Amino acid sequence: MNPSDSPPSQRLLAQGFCALLPSQDHSISEADQPTDKIFGETYGLHNWGDDLVTVDATGAVCLGDPTFPDGQPTPLPKIMADLSDRGIVAPVLLRVDAFLDRALAQLNTAFAEACTATRYQGVYRGVFPIKVNQQAEVIKQLVRSGRRFNYGLEAGSKPELLIALAQDLPSDALLICNGFKDEDFIRLAILSRHLGHNTVIVIESLDEFDIIQRVSADLNRRPLLGVRVKLTERVTGKWQESSGDRSTFGLSAFELMALITRMKNSDFLDCLVLQHSHLGSQVPDIIDVRRATTEACRFYTELTNLGAPLTHIDLGGGLGVDYTGARRADDNSVNYSVDEYCYNIVETLRYALDEAEIPHPTIVTESGRFVVAQSSIFVFNVLGATLYDAGEKPDLYPEDHHLLADLMAVEHYIDGARHQEALNDAVYYRDEMRALFRRGQLNLDQLSRGEQIFLYLSARLKLRDTEENAAFFIDHYHGNFSLFQSLPDVWAIDQLHPILPLQRLNEAPTRHAIINDITCDSDGKIDRFILGEDIASALPVHDLVDDQPYYVGAFFVGAYQETLGDLHNLFGDANVITISLDGAGGFSIVNETEADSIAEVLSYVEYDPRDCLDAVRQKIERAVVAGLVEAETRRLMISAYKKALNGSTYFEQPAPRQA
Ligand SMILES: *Cc1c(COP(=O)(O)O)cnc(C)c1O
Repeated sequence: MNPSDSPPSQRLLAQGFCALLPSQDHSISEADQPTDKIFGETYGLHNWGDDLVTVDATGAVCLGDPTFPDGQPTPLPKIMADLSDRGIVAPVLLRVDAFLDRALAQLNTAFAEACTATRYQGVYRGVFPIKVNQQAEVIKQLVRSGRRFNYGLEAGSKPELLIALAQDLPSDALLICNGFKDEDFIRLAILSRHLGHNTVIVIESLDEFDIIQRVSADLNRRPLLGVRVKLTERVTGKWQESSGDRSTFGLSAFELMALITRMKNSDFLDCLVLQHSHLGSQVPDIIDVRRATTEACRFYTELTNLGAPLTHIDLGGGLGVDYTGARRADDNSVNYSVDEYCYNIVETLRYALDEAEIPHPTIVTESGRFVVAQSSIFVFNVLGATLYDAGEKPDLYPEDHHLLADLMAVEHYIDGARHQEALNDAVYYRDEMRALFRRGQLNLDQLSRGEQIFLYLSARLKLRDTEENAAFFIDHYHGNFSLFQSLPDVWAIDQLHPILPLQRLNEAPTRHAIINDITCDSDGKIDRFILGEDIASALPVHDLVDDQPYYVGAFFVGAYQETLGDLHNLFGDANVITISLDGAGGFSIVNETEADSIAEVLSYVEYDPRDCLDAVRQKIERAVVAGLVEAETRRLMISAYKKALNGSTYFEQPAPRQA
């Protein structure tokens, strides 16, 4: 029995279905029914909202400005309505500038406080790994807001280095170069020191050192060098397989010894100022952070004793985001806070280095995810729903096959002890009818009324639904977005983001739905949701109301999502709007990047939109000449084509409809 076999009801709720249901009691599971009037907790807001995402008395999800903790939060539906008045419609990626600043300040403050508390002699100098969010607006803001912390950048490729070199970094900030580096990369890195950058080239392989030697000799200039060591400690979590021994990057113990010997022999050892290691992203367990730091200290001590004039220890990324708010060491959560992360690192370093009698180095981390994840929220509107229940009871006729009447009779024992029997029978009769239809023994009209009876029964059956049967009654809500473009990690690595309706949380949700996107890909759906302490396969949602937008927000999408997104079905970038909250319930737009037009998206895949238009023009002109269409049709066709070229790749009609 595959629940998704049931055809959806085609006419819906707005017309009277609710009236059939016991008042306020039509959610799937009564046990899930919160007793509170506000339903934020249903979605775990109290776990992950961090006081920045809250619900107000009108049931609207609100954003609080961390710089005005006592200020009035700004309702997201109001933001969407105001944007829509300005002509900016969903889907929209909303960046909140204060959220980014807050995360950056949290990280830097936590390290500073940990250094003070443990009497650590060195300082913290963080760098932002550009790959985590390369968008110009984000990098600009990070550089601007990071100035007071001497916050720098990490480049993992030549394009990222070019981005970094164009930024106005403070003179004490670091520019760390990781990844594969060719001569051009290294030349730029070495020369950039003349622009006042503290550019450190992190050696990732022995071959790379050869190139560095060559370029350095050519330029007759000395580089600042780092070395990436391969830790043997493995971490748990999503990146477990690529940690430890098996990691692609870094030098193993014997390569490291070979490098040091070669550096000594070629007089480069005095350039080696930084030791780098990277555990992988989203490290769930703080114990792994401690272990890795301890191992990094061992390398640091040994390298120092071998004569390397190290001054910086770079522990890479890994600081995780608690997506579910569960504070557990699992794939989408972490069992530590940022304060704990920083304290654990600093404390471990201090003990280990004191014991080795080595001066405390500057601590570097390349924390990307933590710094940017929270700052972006992806908001889309629901275009319609496919519901797996129906309010109207179809008519039966004497000449109908008896299976229709049998199915209808299930109604009499739906409630009470025979509930499961009712469901079993309903599914049996429905499937029998389908079999008869396939054999030509039931006509379409009867099949259609039979399906309708099943949906009518479903509306009643789901009231007493049990966990195992839940899948029969899950509705499909159609979101105006592309999963592949806007939430790629949800598709690729089962990333969970907090997702919830942004309005009407003062009403009990009446349905459970999965969310389909508008690509034609059956993978384009969200069917795992963070609900309170649990991960659920459907999201509690409300019945759609005609002409009222129904917005859904996906939170913590600022890290990795934007440039990993692809053009599946040629859905392009959504609108990207950076806003400032005003602490008084309002907001202003700081920056706006308009969504990709269809013409832009076509050009990404090497079509020239003008050529396309010309081709259509010629085609229709031939039809006009041949007398197949009127000249007026040509005008309509061309103007519709042009309008579409300049328009959005997404569904452009804002009002929701239930299908
Ligand atoms: C990806 C990456 C990071 C960022 O890691 P986060 O877990 O996002 O903080 C840092 N350093 C290196 C070398 C990376 O490849």
